[in-house]
Amino acid sequence: MKFKLSKIKDWIDCEIQDEFIDTYVDGTCIDSRSLTKGQLFIPFKGENVDGHRFVKQALADGAGAAFWQKDIPNPPEGPIIQVEDTLKALQDLAKAYLKYVNPKVVAITGSNGKTTTKDMVESVLRQNFKVKKTQGNYNNEIGCPLTILDLDEDTEVSILEMGMSGFGEIRELTKIAQPDIAIITNIGESHMQDLGSREGIAKAKFEIAEGLNDNGILIYDGDEPLLQPLVAELVKSSISVGLNDDNKVKIYTNQTSSSGINFNLNNEHIVYHLNILGAHNVKNTTYAIQVAKQLGVTDDVIQNALADLTITDMRMQQIDTSQYGLFINDAYNASPTSMKAAIDTLHNIEQKDKTIVLADVLELGSISKDMHEQVGLYFEGKDIQRLLTYGQEAEHIYNKAQGFVTDARHFENKEDIKTNLSKHLNSDSVTLFKGSRGMSLETIIDELK
Ligand code: ATP
Ligand code: MG
Repeated sequence: MKFKLSKIKDWIDCEIQDEFIDTYVDGTCIDSRSLTKGQLFIPFKGENVDGHRFVKQALADGAGAAFWQKDIPNPPEGPIIQVEDTLKALQDLAKAYLKYVNPKVVAITGSNGKTTTKDMVESVLRQNFKVKKTQGNYNNEIGCPLTILDLDEDTEVSILEMGMSGFGEIRELTKIAQPDIAIITNIGESHMQDLGSREGIAKAKFEIAEGLNDNGILIYDGDEPLLQPLVAELVKSSISVGLNDDNKVKIYTNQTSSSGINFNLNNEHIVYHLNILGAHNVKNTTYAIQVAKQLGVTDDVIQNALADLTITDMRMQQIDTSQYGLFINDAYNASPTSMKAAIDTLHNIEQKDKTIVLADVLELGSISKDMHEQVGLYFEGKDIQRLLTYGQEAEHIYNKAQGFVTDARHFENKEDIKTNLSKHLNSDSVTLFKGSRGMSLETIIDELK
């Protein structure tokens, strides 16, 4: 974004001294240490640090202008934009700027798969459109507006990831973004402590539909029973995606191998090849395909885009090592649902020697033991030869899985897992790693490869 302060004055409720009204700002900055010249510096009155302390320095370092919250005394001299609340002002500015740029907006929420789906949507759209997506995990009440303010004036599609940890947060974001297309990837168990139940989580994610513009459409996980009644009651236009028969778009998997998955939709003749593993990724891809179709992208363009898809690291990332075979790094994060999905993925790979390394799923509160035990029981009938668990909670997985996995072991530290793997793996092995972010299982991969 690059414009004069007079534009900001038109767009949001604020006060700016007349002499600065023709000053330009170019981009935004919330951390004065990473400021570049001309940016609009936005301080927040945080619990520990008050960003207003850095405003004067930011201006001295070349900030184009800065927000200032009126309840804080002694604003410095210079191009100051006085507002009631700097967070609200940031959000209002984002909303106005988005209207000005006027791209198609695709908003994505869900317990798991937001970033992956975002990457996929970008891949299938970027051949035909000028696209901009959320960087990294900038998906909250600050990150989402900053992403919007980062749009170029000629951006045609804005892809926004929307995360949350409680009720009302997605509502706020979707009202800023007013999406043309909203996606709910799935309902999992994260934030169970704050939201009370899976029903609560479903309701909180469903808030994304409230901001849909008049002709907007919701694309959602049709295999999730908790979403169906909400959609029926509250959404005009929707597409359910999943494996169940009653979905509008039903996924049929034709073939799975370690090089990827072939699938089709509604038994139509077009076969899509996905070079990434995981049934959940087929679903994420199908969401992306639906978005592309809504925007008029043709099937051959979609097929080609999927063939050379890249998604963010540590989501089913395949790493070929000559000595230890194939590593599948899915260690970015985990929920009980996504752990079961990972078990299925490995089960479906046709290879003789398959190992899974599982660490704790953190932050499950009082249901943690039960949830981990259920993951353990899920190993019944699975074609997986070796299970290595790490962490206090993961021991509950091990306890229940012992009867189902020939070689199951529990470890207290990652060093011992590394030693065990280096003893057992060979060039034909496949090993999948999964656990919560806090468990950092990828360090084992980094050391072995
Ligand atoms: P965060 O809340 O941390 O931003 P996210 O929603 O962006 O997470 P991703 O980073 O895309 O999610 O994926 C994280 C993990 O979630 C993946 O490694 C995978 O195990 C799991 N996952 C991805 N998509 C799905 C899905 N559709 N259903 C269930 N699990 C999924
Ligand atoms: Mg994410």
